[in-house]
Amino acid sequence: MFDLIIRNANLPDGRQGFDIGLFGRRITAIEKRLDAVCGEEIDATGRLVSPPFCDPHFHMDATLSLGMPRMNVSGTLLEGIALWGELRPLLTKEALVERALRYCDLAVSQGLLYIRSHVDTSDPRLVTAEALIEVRERVAPYIQLQLVAFPQDGYYRAEGGVASLNRALDMGIDIVGGIPHFERTMEEGRLSLEALCRIAAERGLPVDIHCDETDDPMSRHIETLAAETIRHGLQGRVAGSHLTSMHSMDNYYVSKLIPLIAEAQINVIPNPLINIMLQGRHDTYPKRRGMTRVRELMAAGLNVSFGQDCTMDPWYSMGSADMLEVGHMAIHVAQMGGLDDKRQIFDALTVNSAKTMGLEGYGLEIGCKADLIVLQAADVFEALRLKPSRLFVVKGGKVISRTAPRIGELFLEGRPAEIDSGRDYVPVY
Ligand SMILES: [Zn+2]
Repeated sequence: MFDLIIRNANLPDGRQGFDIGLFGRRITAIEKRLDAVCGEEIDATGRLVSPPFCDPHFHMDATLSLGMPRMNVSGTLLEGIALWGELRPLLTKEALVERALRYCDLAVSQGLLYIRSHVDTSDPRLVTAEALIEVRERVAPYIQLQLVAFPQDGYYRAEGGVASLNRALDMGIDIVGGIPHFERTMEEGRLSLEALCRIAAERGLPVDIHCDETDDPMSRHIETLAAETIRHGLQGRVAGSHLTSMHSMDNYYVSKLIPLIAEAQINVIPNPLINIMLQGRHDTYPKRRGMTRVRELMAAGLNVSFGQDCTMDPWYSMGSADMLEVGHMAIHVAQMGGLDDKRQIFDALTVNSAKTMGLEGYGLEIGCKADLIVLQAADVFEALRLKPSRLFVVKGGKVISRTAPRIGELFLEGRPAEIDSGRDYVPVY
């Protein structure tokens, strides 16, 4: 017995023509031809069915605030932080909730159902934390939202930063954040990591650090983060977000560093859209790309997942809650255009992120949660190329969003009347 059957789907691992049966809130069958009738069926012939996308690094308190109170003129990370500092005192809980809910609507339509958001704890009013805790509850039926206490202006550098972060954790924020490269000195950055990892160990919480988001090759906080992770036995529960200084580091040093990161089982979260936009800003030409060493980290067996970081905020005037846009950019910036590369990039938007976020029951297998998406593309390679429509988004066995396929009509003599980009050209590999 099934509540919903998806017929004739292509799976992310390349298998084609499978029926997926959902019952209750679980996937209960995946077979070549499911011999059953069901009230509701979706024809997914020639379409990729995937688990939903996950975004392990986002800022939902800042999203959709572009232009408030002004635009970022230089386009730099530092002007973005200053601009956010201007906006912060003006924030209200109501406005924060409203913007976050609107963003979550967009995310659902893009098949993005798992989001980890940093929450700035620098303003002691903590309206950001209050608002996003409310949002976490309100969107729970359709989006699993994890929150990170993030001291944007520095754990030690901001007045009251230590107390605010701890208060946010007391309020029920899930994860300990930090920003060591923004503390006043390298030494204070190191001390902040020691303190934050200790807090996480004592409270039994995961850690997610904005770590070395700079072009400075001497910004080596990731080294401390790995060492503190091991010291506190936090292996697998710590994420290093950005790690952009690794792009500029000396190769010999990196040959020592990557095994250390692997020993600590740090989850690595590059943010390709933001890294390519914000890094290298002090360079003339040639300009550095700034994204961390994705291929080398993956080759070392590290769990690498990509974040979106920003959508329409002081740091980034683009973004559309589309994780395939993130993957598309990653392919270009990391120069990972091969078939195996792309498979890994797609994993970095789905299963790897689920691992980073510690999600239960995620995946496209019997027994997993009945959460999946149907895309207007034949396979993962085409999904990354086309960033196609999410034809159906299924959560808990129910369709929660539907988008019509993008079909172009042609009025050309002797040529087809319409073109379905997800079907009309399927390459032979
Ligand atoms: Zn961030």
